[in-house]
This record gives sequence, C-alpha cells and structure tokens, in this order.
Amino acid sequence: TAAAPAAPQKPQNPAGVKTVIAVASGKGGVGKSTVAANLAVALAARGKKVGMLDADVYGPSQPRMLGVSGRPSSPDGRIILPHRNHGVTLMSLGLMVGEDEALVWRGPMLMGALQQMLSQVQWGRLDVLVVDLPPGTGDVQMTLCQNADVAGAVVVSTPQDIALIDARKGIDMFRKMGTPILGLIENMSAFVCDGCGKVHHPFGHGGAKAEAEKLGVPFLGEIPLDLDIRVAGDGGAPIVVLKPESPQAEAFFAVADAL
Ligand code: ADP
Repeated sequence: TAAAPAAPQKPQNPAGVKTVIAVASGKGGVGKSTVAANLAVALAARGKKVGMLDADVYGPSQPRMLGVSGRPSSPDGRIILPHRNHGVTLMSLGLMVGEDEALVWRGPMLMGALQQMLSQVQWGRLDVLVVDLPPGTGDVQMTLCQNADVAGAVVVSTPQDIALIDARKGIDMFRKMGTPILGLIENMSAFVCDGCGKVHHPFGHGGAKAEAEKLGVPFLGEIPLDLDIRVAGDGGAPIVVLKPESPQAEAFFAVADAL
C-alpha cells in the first residue's frame, strides 16, 4: 500500500523566538516602517525581549530609524551576529549594502535572503520578533508566512481610500495564507497645527476604523501626522525612545498594549 502523504509541516520560528509579528501595508509610504520601529521600541520599553527583522528589501529603513549602521559580523561565515540598539536586536538587508545601493534582485534571491535572516541570524531569546515587510502582497510576504509561525499581522494604512483599498488586499492575502490579522492601524490620522492648534485631517479621518469594522478585524488605534515623529525616525531614535512621555509616543504605546 502506498504510504500516506506526509502532513504539511507547520513552519517553525527561529530558535529562541517565541512570537513573530508581521507589520504590513498595502501601499508604500503610509508609515509602516515608522510604526514597526516605534512598536518594537515600545514593546522593549514594556520589558519584552524584542527583535526587528527588516524584510522591506526594496527600501530597508530600519537601520536608519533604529540608529544602527555597519555590516553585522559573522565569525564562522554562517551565523550572523545582529546589532542591538534601543533594546531591539536588528537585522536588515540594508546593513549588507550601502545606503545608496539598490538590491537588484529577483524574487528567488529575495526569498533566499529572508530565509537566511530567519535562520542564520543569532536572534537569541526573544519574546517578539517584529518583521517589517515590504508593501504589497508578494514573494516576501508569502516566504515569511511559509518559513515562520507568524502569530499575526498588523496592517498599517492612512485613512485615505486609495491606501485602504490596498490594505484590504493585504488583509485578504494574510487570510488566504492562514495568518491571523492582529488589527489595522490608522497612521497620519490627525494633524495639529502648531500655530493655531486646529486639528486637520489631510488624508481624511476614521477610514481605517470603519474598514476594520467592515472586515471584522480589530482596530488598534490612530497615530497622528506629526513633525516630531518624522524627525525622530530620521534621527535614529524613534519618538517612543526620544520623547516617551509625549502624546505621540502614547499613541504608539496604546497600539503596543493592544497587541
Ligand atoms: P513605509 O514603510 O510605509 O514606506 P515610512 O515609515 O518609511 O513608510 O514613512 C514614510 C515617510 O513618512 C517617512 O519619511 C516617515 O518619516 C514619514 N512618516 C511616517 N509616519 C509618520 C507620522 N505619523 N507623522 C509624520 N511623518 C510620518
């Protein structure tokens, strides 16, 4: 008699890593990396052991946002020793190439690089590994879900319809992959004028919350559109680290606590 087909194996997390959380977006430029960096440092500030895998292969921003530079060392040519800053252990392809260099790679190479970052990086014991995904629904997202036991995905969107349409596609992809959706975050939500104090909504307001309700996924909170958030990210110390008591940092802490 023919042997029964082997049951599909559940993907395993990297050794020592308890939980993997993916941060995703449909569209680029909606603040996914900013949210990922601030969530990672917020979770670290809450006492968790946190890692960041920057899988945004076409625009790896985490080295800049977490203030890390320099190629990670690999004493034996296999195991890669990650950097650490602000309480977060970081690996990014951005550390392997110059800041101005493009990764002109086809899908299979990207998938190989992601697999290497999962398996060859000495992550150590982590409560949470945050994965900053590229925008969209492509090879990298699928490779992650097939090579790690992803606990869930956080989807970042602006309140704009055009961003929400793509966020919906991202949510649909994770559902098809069997990855739970931890929730939707509205970034660049309100803008407070520092001159008159008036609250503006350049990209609209409430769209992500309404969308979350429609799709039956949790709504994790709103992050304001704010100069300090941008400047902190560019300077290598996310707002949660730079001004932990500020209302902007509170917004990120609220999301981290809702996870
Ligand atoms: P993505 O990862 O979605 O491409 P980024 O996190 O790189 O987006 O953000 C795109 C740009 O917008 C960056 O310059 C970043 O500093 C800025 N940005 C992101 N979120 C905010 C925010 N809430 N307030 C102000 N600027 C933001």
